[in-house]
Amino acid sequence: MLKCPNCQSKDVGKIGVNQYYCWNCYIEMTIAKGVIYTHQVEEDGSLSSLDDLFGEEERTISM
Ligand SMILES: [Zn+2]
Repeated sequence: MLKCPNCQSKDVGKIGVNQYYCWNCYIEMTIAKGVIYTHQVEEDGSLSSLDDLFGEEERTISM
């Protein structure tokens, strides 16, 4: 089960192929090659990366 790297919530919904959304802290996650890429949706609809906030270990998922 995927956990949000930001808030550790398991309230994560699938929104597309390899794309997930955290309903707890409202960030979008994209999974590519076992790594979670995190994005925050800004008020104007653009995406800003949150990847700098997390270490490589936190962003790696074991399949
Ligand atoms: Zn979250």
